[in-house]
Amino acid sequence: MDNIKKSSILIVDDVASQRNILQHILSPLDITIIQASSGKDALGKVLNHDFAVILMDIEMPGMKGYEVVNLIHSNPRFKHIPIVMVTSNDNDSDALPKSYEAGAVDFVTKPVDDIILTKKVAQFITLDEHRRIAEDSTARLNILLNSVSEGILGIDLDGNITFANPKALELLAIDSENISAKLQDFLILHNQNTPETQDYKDSNCELIDLLTSSFHEASSLGKTNLKGSGNWQSLAGNIFHSNYSCDVTRELNGESNGEINGAVLTFKDTTQEKETEAKLLHLANFDYLTNIPNRAYFYDALNQSIIRVKRSNTTLAVMFLDIDHFKFINDQYGHDIGDLLLQNISQKLSHILREGDLISRMGGDEFAIILQDIPANINVLNVAQKILSSVSEPLELNSIKIEVSTSIGIAFYDPNSMNMDDLLKAADTAMYEAKSEGRNNFQFFAKEMQDKAEQSQRVQMLLSKAILNNELTVLYQPKISLLQKKMVGCEALIRWFPEEGDMLSPDVFIPIAEQTGQIIELGNWILNNVCQQISYWQTLPYFKGMVTAINVSVRQLGTSEFREKLVKAINKHGIKPEYVEIEVTETATFDDHKIFFSELEKIHALGVKISIDDFGTGHSSLDYLRKMPVDVIKIDRSFIKDIGKDVQDEELIRTILAISKTMSIQVIAEGVETVEQLTFLEENQVDDIQGYYFSEPIRAQAISDVLNNNDNLYKKQFELFENNKAIHVKSTQYCVVTPLTQAS
Ligand code: C2E
Ligand code: MG
Ligand code: MG
Repeated sequence: MDNIKKSSILIVDDVASQRNILQHILSPLDITIIQASSGKDALGKVLNHDFAVILMDIEMPGMKGYEVVNLIHSNPRFKHIPIVMVTSNDNDSDALPKSYEAGAVDFVTKPVDDIILTKKVAQFITLDEHRRIAEDSTARLNILLNSVSEGILGIDLDGNITFANPKALELLAIDSENISAKLQDFLILHNQNTPETQDYKDSNCELIDLLTSSFHEASSLGKTNLKGSGNWQSLAGNIFHSNYSCDVTRELNGESNGEINGAVLTFKDTTQEKETEAKLLHLANFDYLTNIPNRAYFYDALNQSIIRVKRSNTTLAVMFLDIDHFKFINDQYGHDIGDLLLQNISQKLSHILREGDLISRMGGDEFAIILQDIPANINVLNVAQKILSSVSEPLELNSIKIEVSTSIGIAFYDPNSMNMDDLLKAADTAMYEAKSEGRNNFQFFAKEMQDKAEQSQRVQMLLSKAILNNELTVLYQPKISLLQKKMVGCEALIRWFPEEGDMLSPDVFIPIAEQTGQIIELGNWILNNVCQQISYWQTLPYFKGMVTAINVSVRQLGTSEFREKLVKAINKHGIKPEYVEIEVTETATFDDHKIFFSELEKIHALGVKISIDDFGTGHSSLDYLRKMPVDVIKIDRSFIKDIGKDVQDEELIRTILAISKTMSIQVIAEGVETVEQLTFLEENQVDDIQGYYFSEPIRAQAISDVLNNNDNLYKKQFELFENNKAIHVKSTQYCVVTPLTQAS
């Protein structure tokens, strides 16, 4: 009460001494005392002050006391002021009843008893203070109610609105004069436009529950406060999103908790916040380019699907898709076309999938699909087939004709053995399998794939340390000329002896290095190693321009880096480019044919020889011959192996030989192991031979020995060949077919 102004009282008496007596008696009280000498004077003072009590002399000349009381109380503004009449024995007998009638509340008699007067006035002062505090807080409350940005509603047990502050009136478009509405009328139960916000808390459901059935139970349930949100509609038809808080109110019942008699509801128009929140939510969950769910959303959804599958015992499959050669499309036609392609594919996928399935863009050119409740494998197969054929339909994007394909990995969820990561890994592994199976196909995950993937991961890790740890060596396999009957070249073949474990075959780690990109570092190491070796060999007496072949992965020829390194190595080690041959395998896939062919052209222009390795195993051998600057063709071991066993393979060898003769391309047969094979190859005029029959890959030192001594290391093999050949020719009736070139 410290901040409350002092109470004032008014003493009205025509006799100054009487007024002073009263003032003196009351002086111990902490109040302001004002005097009036007449009824008129009193009325003027009342107008300008707020009195806690008025002490009114009954008998005054002019206006009588009770007349003054009457006038004061006739004004509603002053009706609350208690008026105590001061009487004396000589007053008219009806003066006091008249005063009461006019609104006086009490009286004191002259001569006034000090104690009685002080006590009475003190009581009125206390009452006045309470009144003023109450008035003050009501005024504050009103200011608050009128100025807050939240709507405030009072409702009764039936939901009838009993009070609404100006903001509530505005939001609900209610007429302040006529608030005859129920809160229920404004609440929209279901929010059809935003399905993602359909949870219980965001649908007014709890509030409606409270208003209809459970209002009365609220207290027994201890549920006296409710916070929620939902869409509301004003009487003018305006729909807004409201965040509300509802507190039940109780009857004032002394100190104890009274009965619930309604509720106070504060609410706010949060439409804008909701829209911003929805936008942020969308950004966080959807891919900006394709507008389909992103990786984060996918993980959440998959988690939910797994929980559902565990509960309902249904099936769940995940598909991973990767667009084949997407990088090439981006590089060739620009990112705009790349983006359009991704949008196009995501639309196609969305059309193919059922409503309950989920498609997401995981990043780059990777998509993932969740297929739920699948009755049998066959359906997934159908979906995969549909996707393959839909994606591979030719497209026209910005007037550019484009044909793409996709590789799909499929994994089924096994609740007994998998968690989410395992499932994702399985689909990813199957996708890589589809890639290595030539792309444009789908593969189901199998355990062996996982083993392979895990081994691949191990190898990748170990390989990163192999160069530093000096675990790599190069062996050289001699190439023998059938005409000259001696070594005319060799092929560098890498060997890896990891610190722990057995030697690993390049057939195992080279494809992994190609996949991971480690082939670049590895390739550079081999290049330098071999060039250094050649620089030594060229100093030896019988070197005579021997050509050493280096295997180069297609991955290394995707940029100019390899060529630059090659030039550097040749210069650094002071060797002639003609001493170097690069063997390119046509089976490896690559994204940008243009760069690949132009790099080969430039390398060839340096004077370096180019050979096609494993010829006949790829898809477009003949096409390559036209496009590539080829010096040598290496017939793959798989054909040589079948000599004497498979007439078709023999025929193919003859065809390759015939074509290469017309194109003046040298031919070397790989993996020659037997006299029979050698006989066939000699008869068909193959230039050079490589294979275990003459030599396995050997250490560089062994090659150095040959170049130092000119010993015909392979004399024995040739003798054996000559002896056995005679027997062979006699025993097997070879039908020697004239090569195509001679025939035509
Ligand atoms: P490739 O280039 O076709 O090499 C020939 C492979 O056949 C070599 O296997 C060789 O040891 C093997 N070979 C040669 N003659 C015979 C034979 O008479 N019988 C049998 N059964 N095999 C024979 P290797 O050394 O295991 O290499 C396998 C593949 O790994 C190579 O095939 C090549 O593609 C790749 N590779 C090897 N070294 C390198 C390298 O330094 N860089 C790259 N990029 N790839 C390499
Ligand atoms: Mg090779
Ligand atoms: Mg080969």
